[in-house]
Amino acid sequence: MVTEPSGRRPAPESPTAASPAGAAIDILDATQAFRSGGGDLLVLDDVSISIAPGEFVALVGPSGSGKSTLLRLVAGLDEPLFGKVYVDGRTVTGPDPSRALVFQDPTLFPWRTVRQNVATGPQALGMLGNSQRRIDDVLRLVHLADFADAWPSQLSGGMAQRTALARALVNDPSVLLLDEPLGKLDALTRRHLQGELLSLWEERRYTALLVTHDVSEALVLADRVIVFSPRPARVREVVEVGLDRPRDQASPEFVRLREAILALLDEDQANEAERA
Ligand code: ADP
Ligand code: MG
Repeated sequence: MVTEPSGRRPAPESPTAASPAGAAIDILDATQAFRSGGGDLLVLDDVSISIAPGEFVALVGPSGSGKSTLLRLVAGLDEPLFGKVYVDGRTVTGPDPSRALVFQDPTLFPWRTVRQNVATGPQALGMLGNSQRRIDDVLRLVHLADFADAWPSQLSGGMAQRTALARALVNDPSVLLLDEPLGKLDALTRRHLQGELLSLWEERRYTALLVTHDVSEALVLADRVIVFSPRPARVREVVEVGLDRPRDQASPEFVRLREAILALLDEDQANEAERA
């Protein structure tokens, strides 16, 4: 350990330096069902997924299979009917600012500026006073420093989604849950934001769990891609991506992985259609 002449330890590196800030997620035999009309709708059937601290995992699967339901369990918005969800070894019993959730719809407060929207969390926690620098940092991080005083109505879709991302990141989460966050954006903006999501993750190393219906997006971003079966969701396949980043979508290995995942999803869809 290097000590300064004063005897103090050197100041820790900037909090934005790459450090394993992410938490471990362990979902053990999670089963979830909802009451619907005549009976119970089984949505998650014995789902077990373990995610290492700082890992980036993508979740793909048919629409209505239970992907958002799983994210809500990790976020602590719902509890599973059976099974357990642990974050860093502790049972998730409710929402926590260390586990941030970003949705497809940015849901900004229209009467608050970009900066005020990002400040919502710290303000609610009574920490606005000492969060000003963090808010500035995070606005810079998502390239919105020049738009801090803009109103949501003045923002493009991409900028609105960046604001939502900043709002999630301002609490320095150890888990970032992304529910089709780029789903509504045009192809070009989407590509840009995929790059930004990647650099944010490389810088912060939170644990990321991304739901997407875009298999290429999953393969561009994630260390592993989990494929859900149709409802009730089971883990159909776990695909290790194992390609260096940034990933070349035209490389034979990328194309092979994409085709393999699409084939699984196609097969399931065909079986569903047959059953219907
Ligand atoms: P996905 O995100 O994979 O498209 P969801 O997890 O949103 O799917 O939903 C899975 C199934 O559970 C759907 O059939 C949906 O209608 C149902 N569902 C989700 N949440 C509830 C709820 N709170 N009450 C009743 N049914 C629900
Ligand atoms: Mg969903």
